[in-house]
Amino acid sequence: MLSRPIRGMKDLCGVELEKYIYVIARARRIAEKYGYTQIKTPILEYTDVFLRSIGDETDVVSKEMYTFIDKGGESLTLRPEGTAGVMRAIASRNLAQQLPLKLMYFGEMFRYDRPQRGRFRQFHQLGFEHIGDKSPFTDAIMIAMAVEILSSVGIFDIKVLVNTLGDDETRENYTKAIVKFFSRNEEALSDESKIRLKKNPLRILDSKDAGDREICAMAPLIADYLSKDSGKYFETVCKLLVGYGLNYEVDSFLVRGLDYYTHTTFELKATSANYKDSLGGGGRYDKLLGLFGDQDVSGIGFAFGMERIMLLINDDSFGKTQKKVCVIPVCDNENNAAFELFKLLQNCDLNAEFLHIGNLTKKMKVAGRMGCEMALIIGETELKNGVITVKFMNKPDDGSKTKLIDKNQIAQFVKCSIGELSWR
Ligand code: AMP
Repeated sequence: MLSRPIRGMKDLCGVELEKYIYVIARARRIAEKYGYTQIKTPILEYTDVFLRSIGDETDVVSKEMYTFIDKGGESLTLRPEGTAGVMRAIASRNLAQQLPLKLMYFGEMFRYDRPQRGRFRQFHQLGFEHIGDKSPFTDAIMIAMAVEILSSVGIFDIKVLVNTLGDDETRENYTKAIVKFFSRNEEALSDESKIRLKKNPLRILDSKDAGDREICAMAPLIADYLSKDSGKYFETVCKLLVGYGLNYEVDSFLVRGLDYYTHTTFELKATSANYKDSLGGGGRYDKLLGLFGDQDVSGIGFAFGMERIMLLINDDSFGKTQKKVCVIPVCDNENNAAFELFKLLQNCDLNAEFLHIGNLTKKMKVAGRMGCEMALIIGETELKNGVITVKFMNKPDDGSKTKLIDKNQIAQFVKCSIGELSWR
């Protein structure tokens, strides 16, 4: 039990962690080009931050939050997503005075979901919020940036889905239409969706229940209820996407799992043979910041699931550490001289290991296991003659495997040889 992580949570190390850092670095560079700066908010927030903003009929709030009472009696929640915390930070730091704001964040999120491939209870999101510029241009630019981030890490097999939830007028008319429709089909709805019908009917469109999905397929489409302004807004977003040369599909049921969206919603789905689920998504929100006490300022945001992106990145170019060299004293008598050489190599910015535990055979074995390219061996004779025996670990055992090098030239020799080795 003690050696097991919690179900749905895992350690990130080795190749996986390298991939994580790589994706963040690539995304950061692109986000910088689009004018984003970074923000880091706490992993814990008061539960109300999520209750009020995400919506209590959503799966995230009703089933998936890690909520607990702390020692001071406060209800706290491990963040299930990043947007609410960023909005809280904008309000508490008065950042709305500096609009427009473009913020990038990344880090751990927590949802008590059923673990499966690409779905965890602790996972990582990379997200972006652009607050203050309500315009179809902003929406299209954000979608284009999301696609560019994926291509920058070699992910091209994707589908861009877009939809609009329109403005208040649209939502009101559409909600009336679907309430009428689902009430006629209430008997066939899942128990959960029967409750949603009373509390938040739009959420039914988001249901994963197979029976609900069949009914949803016949439900009225939001496109037929768009107010004039909303229709025009969405049409412009779509035209701009065409201008970007982006292939997209309109998915009328893309209401997304969180309550706060208005106007444009979008999702990027993987279409590779290896994985076909959502890589990320988001949308525009008009009233979110207002919930935190600031004026109603419109914004748009999206988040990628890092684990899903990492799943699609080939392992081949990761996990190859830089060429490494190890310094090995034959006996304890040579420890000090070998240690001095190790320090010298490190000062020359070379990746060096000092292997001094065990007999020579054991030390050579460890050097091989560590992937060292060269072993620099110092024994009694070497010490006496002021030389070092260099052993190229991966060369065949012909005349080129070992060399004797003057100790004053060793750092230079290693530098040149490491350079040559990397061309192999
Ligand atoms: P959402 O915040 O629900 O809009 O999700 C945005 C993205 O986060 C999704 O497209 C997924 O890539 C990722 N995501 C959401 N939930 C999980 C999870 N439980 N495990 C891993 N990734 C997730």
